[in-house]
Amino acid sequence: MTNTKEIQAIDSAHYMHPFTDHKGLADKGARVITKADNVYIWDSEGHKIFDAMSGLWCVNVGYGRQELVDAAAKQMAELPYYNSFFQTTNVPAVKLAEKIIKLAGDNYSHVFFSSSGSESNDTNIRMVRHYWATLGQPERTVIISRNNAYHGSTLVGSSLGGMGGMHAQGGMIPGIEHIEQPYHYGLAPDQDRDAFGIEAAGWLEKKILEVGADKVAAFIGEPVQGAGGVIIPPKTYWPEIQRICDKYGILLICDEVICGFGRLGKWFGSQLLGAKPDLMTFAKGVTSGYIPLGGVVVGKRVAKVLIEGGEFNHGYTYSGHPTACAVALANIEILENEGLVDRVLNETGPYLAKKYAELAKHPLVGGAETCGLVAGFVLIKDKVNHTHFDEDLGVGMICRGHCFANGLIMRAVGDRMIIAPPLVTTIAQIDEMMGLIYLCLDATLLDLKKLGAL
Ligand SMILES: *Cc1c(COP(=O)(O)O)cnc(C)c1O
Repeated sequence: MTNTKEIQAIDSAHYMHPFTDHKGLADKGARVITKADNVYIWDSEGHKIFDAMSGLWCVNVGYGRQELVDAAAKQMAELPYYNSFFQTTNVPAVKLAEKIIKLAGDNYSHVFFSSSGSESNDTNIRMVRHYWATLGQPERTVIISRNNAYHGSTLVGSSLGGMGGMHAQGGMIPGIEHIEQPYHYGLAPDQDRDAFGIEAAGWLEKKILEVGADKVAAFIGEPVQGAGGVIIPPKTYWPEIQRICDKYGILLICDEVICGFGRLGKWFGSQLLGAKPDLMTFAKGVTSGYIPLGGVVVGKRVAKVLIEGGEFNHGYTYSGHPTACAVALANIEILENEGLVDRVLNETGPYLAKKYAELAKHPLVGGAETCGLVAGFVLIKDKVNHTHFDEDLGVGMICRGHCFANGLIMRAVGDRMIIAPPLVTTIAQIDEMMGLIYLCLDATLLDLKKLGAL
């Protein structure tokens, strides 16, 4: 067995983690994850943990899929790597592009590959600005995004994102504007949900008029905001966003990094929520996280201009990486063969929704909502009056601590608790997960009573 203390000491000495307070971590030591199967992971002390976050929203087909291992091994033996820069191509990249266009539908013709969501959103911004310049409107540069959006951690990704903590470290690129997120429960719980959706989409139009429609290049949004706390928009929101983008001729980018490849019960989240984006960002679920791959699905409107406009001076060493593309093809084959996307839409998604409707009766739970296999709720002090806990209390962290201790990975975003279990999660496993969630909520409730916070 792995020597936990030894690994933790080396970890602390040499490994700089993403989004981590290293002083805090050094005191208790990182949890060493050593193996995984299906929806479970194990740590070096032998604890079995239900991974209700699919790693970081990515392990859609679950862990331990030999098909993906075999696809990678076969491709690595044959052609591990080659680039597509010098008028060359490779079979897995070509086949994957064709497959993704089939899944995306008639509006799309091309796929540009990268290795991550962040790189793909960088690609988006270069693409839309180049698109407008090619059309003789170079002053159309502004991108409108939303508060609490997450679009990655490169400088473009973090600038597009709406996370103040990220903007405060390293600054922002110019030309990005933010509007408020469509968070019904957090912003206007007493308002009619559908009316709120229309109002929230209207904030885009307001911003367009404020900036000047002839300056705006694109609007970007996650169909369901993920890292911002699983914010599920009212069903009126996306059709109205689409209408506003059409009205002003503005390009629509849907960041499908979480919602794509089945998470919401369709191949792309925008297909469920009623938007027809010009560009779709993907990553994460395209390979179920087994190997890094990302990209942009390019709509015909944009592709035509880019292709006729001559050379687009953009690309990554690993664009169209044959091994990554081979794994993606095998991953999509599993999603198709096992009918996982339909299962989320018709079976596991509705079942989780029913369980979350019941969960809403728990005294600590406010605004419990699901969409496909993502879900969130707020830990709330008083549901009737919408009184939240004191921020300093760190109620989300208290709850997450209990999850950690009880073998459940559930993530805390402030006082919102969120899950995104693998798409292979069965009905019985949803029951198992719900049991753990109740256990952790009850333990949190007890703590809060002891602290006198209730
Ligand atoms: C994770 C994520 C990204 C960033 O992807 P990386 O692969 O970490 O660069 C971008 N957009 C959304 C919606 C994400 O969830």
